[in-house]
Amino acid sequence: MNLVIFGPPGSGKGTQAKLLQEKQAWPQLSTGDMLRAAIAAGTELGKKCQSIMAKGELVPDDVVVGIIGERYDQPDCEKGAIFDGFPRTIPQARSLDSMLKLRNKKIDLVIELKVDDKVLIDRVKTRIAQSGGVARADDNPETLQNRLAVYYQNTAPLLEFYKRQGKLTTVDGMAPIEAVTKAIAVVIEKAAKG
Ligand code: ADP
Repeated sequence: MNLVIFGPPGSGKGTQAKLLQEKQAWPQLSTGDMLRAAIAAGTELGKKCQSIMAKGELVPDDVVVGIIGERYDQPDCEKGAIFDGFPRTIPQARSLDSMLKLRNKKIDLVIELKVDDKVLIDRVKTRIAQSGGVARADDNPETLQNRLAVYYQNTAPLLEFYKRQGKLTTVDGMAPIEAVTKAIAVVIEKAAKG
């Protein structure tokens, strides 16, 4: 199954995608992690993205579409993949649909983790406090505000896009981690039965 874990920054996408990856045969494809790895490795791509990401802006669509396409063609994605943090714009979603179509695949399911802004801000503050001073470059209160604004402006419209395709299910992302994991498992089971 190919599924998208969808939600604003701090909604728990990464946490749930990792847990799901452990349970299922589908790897977690996180564009954020891939870009951070490129920055850490000092590649050209990383250099290009570093300041954009530190500001909480989106890196160009062709960049993320390129890295996702390359990653998806690895053999471990044969049975499907968990897209985490991608797509983030309508053009990215369209590119993803065409890329999958070329491979006779499709997005089967989109799971939205719904979390109030206030809770998101509190979570990132906690993440910063717990990081012992080595927080992600974009984990600070100002950048978070921008990441949220970018989410509502560019990414939230995808909810309507996937709703129209009949693929969207919303889960309460404010429930405890295990409860969210369980709710996601129920949604996947239902989708697998068709
Ligand atoms: P979060 O969802 O918690 O903000 P991510 O790790 O998913 O964190 O993304 C971190 C940053 O990486 C984003 O703010 C953006 O700059 C960049 N990024 C990640 N995925 C994409 C994408 N699909 N399109 C554009 N930029 C992206």
